[in-house]
Amino acid sequence: MGWKHRKRLILAGLHCFDSRFLRAFLTLGSQMNRQLYLGIETSCDETAASVVDAGRHVLSSVVVSQNQTHQAFGGVVPEVAARQHVETLNQVVSDALSSAHVNPHELCGIACTNGPGLIGTLLVGLCAAKALSWVWQVPLFTVDHLLAHVCANYINSDLEPPFVALLVSGGHTQIIHCKSYRELEIIGQTRDDAAGEAFDKVGRLLGLPYPGGPAIDKWALQGNPDAFKFPEGVVSGLDFSFSGLKTAVLRTVEKLPKPLPIADLAASFQSAAVKVLVRKTLLAQEERKVDRIVVAGGVAANSGLRAQLKSRSPVAVYLPAIDLCTDNAAMVAAGAYFCGVSADLDVRAYSRR
Ligand code: ADP
Ligand code: MG
Repeated sequence: MGWKHRKRLILAGLHCFDSRFLRAFLTLGSQMNRQLYLGIETSCDETAASVVDAGRHVLSSVVVSQNQTHQAFGGVVPEVAARQHVETLNQVVSDALSSAHVNPHELCGIACTNGPGLIGTLLVGLCAAKALSWVWQVPLFTVDHLLAHVCANYINSDLEPPFVALLVSGGHTQIIHCKSYRELEIIGQTRDDAAGEAFDKVGRLLGLPYPGGPAIDKWALQGNPDAFKFPEGVVSGLDFSFSGLKTAVLRTVEKLPKPLPIADLAASFQSAAVKVLVRKTLLAQEERKVDRIVVAGGVAANSGLRAQLKSRSPVAVYLPAIDLCTDNAAMVAAGAYFCGVSADLDVRAYSRR
């Protein structure tokens, strides 16, 4: 073999060694830099687990919804929900870890929602998180459920506080001034029904399946938002009231002949609800002089709300991906990274703040 040929072989060998070595080195380096949190969510009727890296990158997100079970009752039955979490959670956690290709010893923390929510269902997730933390010797974190909804906006985005957040879920409606990751001020809230609750109750009035929100959203696309004049709910400042709007729909439905004009009723109700949510959120942004608006919670999936806020806001609007609006565990794992509370094994669950 000539010298030239030998030299080429040696160089090729070195190149091969280099690139393989470099690749292995880089992989190891990136794995060493990972900050992996396992999130667990059982505050209501979704059993969920997720692995998120550094609060922004979702490696897995498994959500098992109990919607079908509760549809027969027209709402969530707490005892049934808790039992179903017990049956489902182990598999959901195992699936979240395996689809993320993560071993428990790689985790920086195990985080769960410990409130607010249904106390029986919260306890299932909290007990599981405590047991896993103890067995795997991984630190335990708790994340407030409402804060977790807000943290869904950190996922796959460059969002940083300060901002004003409109939190609209099945159980809560609040406007929150998020001054830093941990410093929050509730500057507005509902005085009666939550926005999601209003969607669900109106859905039931219209004979739509539970939960009413997604169904109303779909019907509204085919209806005329000006067909019926529903009141916005007159409350001063940044607070809300949705019970008057819900009663106005009820009175209208009682007077109308059957079959009901579902699309027009859905569009008119949604338009009134969205109008007040957008108006007060923009007012909060102006008052607090922030240059970012964030929307969170199940109702953040509403197409009317998303479109209206985006078109009317003078500042940037952050919206979670649709599957991160309703309950999920990726938001809990993100919450653990940005603002989780380090907890001991005697930490308790709470149904209300
Ligand atoms: P909670 O945390 O209170 O259990 P979620 O954050 O999971 O609530 O949100 C569930 C609520 O979101 C339900 O009231 C549901 O009707 C509502 N919702 C979900 N999707 C939509 C939608 N596209 N439009 C309006 N409401 C929706
Ligand atoms: Mg929720």
